Amino acid sequence: MSEIKTFNAAELAENPVIAQMANLGHEQILFCNDEATGLKAIIAVHNTVLGPALGGTRMWMYSNEMEALNDVLRLSRGMTYKNSISGLNLGGGKAVIIGDSRTQKSEALFRRFGKFVNSLAGKYITAEDVGISPIDMNWVSMETKHVVGLPGKSGDPSPVTAYGVYMGMKACAKVQFGSDSLEGKKIAVQGAGHVGEYLISHLTKEKAQVYVTDIHADTLKRVSEKYNAKVVAPEDIYDVDMDIYAPCALGATVNDDTLGKLKCSIIAGAANNQLKSEAKHGIDVMRKGIVYAPDFAINAGGVINCFSEVQGLSSEWAQNKAEEIYNTILNIVNRSQSENIPTYQIANKMAEERIEAIGRVKLPL
Ligand code: NAD
Repeated sequence: MSEIKTFNAAELAENPVIAQMANLGHEQILFCNDEATGLKAIIAVHNTVLGPALGGTRMWMYSNEMEALNDVLRLSRGMTYKNSISGLNLGGGKAVIIGDSRTQKSEALFRRFGKFVNSLAGKYITAEDVGISPIDMNWVSMETKHVVGLPGKSGDPSPVTAYGVYMGMKACAKVQFGSDSLEGKKIAVQGAGHVGEYLISHLTKEKAQVYVTDIHADTLKRVSEKYNAKVVAPEDIYDVDMDIYAPCALGATVNDDTLGKLKCSIIAGAANNQLKSEAKHGIDVMRKGIVYAPDFAINAGGVINCFSEVQGLSSEWAQNKAEEIYNTILNIVNRSQSENIPTYQIANKMAEERIEAIGRVKLPL
């Protein structure tokens, strides 16, 4: 399941959709079209061996339908791995709505989308993602009960995500520094948004030396003053003399350019898809002696929070489950070092092993 072929534009044109689904191991795709509301959406169910496929809905101005399909296939597969490695009884899925989230939203569009989600009868559970607000999800919930992350329910997942990242970072420190204390460690946090700010609060409580950057000057000023963190310009963050780099803004920041500059011994942050190329930069970080906490394992607090809502579990349960990210990351890093395999490959293997094992449990007696 771990080998993915990336299609270029010509190959995309030649490869029918089912061939692409087979390439990534998808179970089902639902294409949604509604003239009246202008809804154009794709729901991808990647794998439901562990449970219903859970993953957010993204609204984005894709330049064409193939780009949207590619994104939803890649993101839904990522959710299968994230949910599996986190020990959740959830499969992986994702939805994309093709459109401009600033101008093309309406109650009717989201309720129609909710009808499509409902037609999957619980095989796919949706939530918020990029471009989607709680108001939009409220509209979706008028047509289906298969929605999580609604206002007044499990709430903003960012505190739980940040706590999981903090725990995973401590596990990396245990391996690299012999102690999981972050006191006095120089930690550069890129992005002082929802997750970044909660993470900084944990780090400063533990007396780490925090450096922070953000592209929004007002956010940077507010957060740096509140937590007494040192301000760094966005373009200078990779040059900071640091022990730990915590990407909490964008993907693909671990790449050829930044690896030439980064002096850290740990990369542990919340951003998705941190390695520009998994295959190349996952090996490069290992060769440089950097411990990289695989993004989908360390940032699983958000989906843990959603799962607590699906199951009607408490916020304490979600917090305790996120604490387990410490052991998950410790296992990944220890296994990576003893088998001399990059951490991202170990994490993928662990996620696949659980799906295979539980898949066998579910066979008829
Ligand atoms: P957010 O939008 O609240 O915060 C991101 C911050 O990064 C913003 O303040 C933004 O100004 C800043 N930023 C953007 N580009 C930057 C750059 N080039 N340099 C410095 N700062 C920059 O998002 P969030 O909810 O805090 O999520 C952060 C990351 O973690 C995202 O990649 C997200 O996909 C991922 N993630 C979030 C959650 C969650 O629970 N919120 C869960 C899993 C993964």
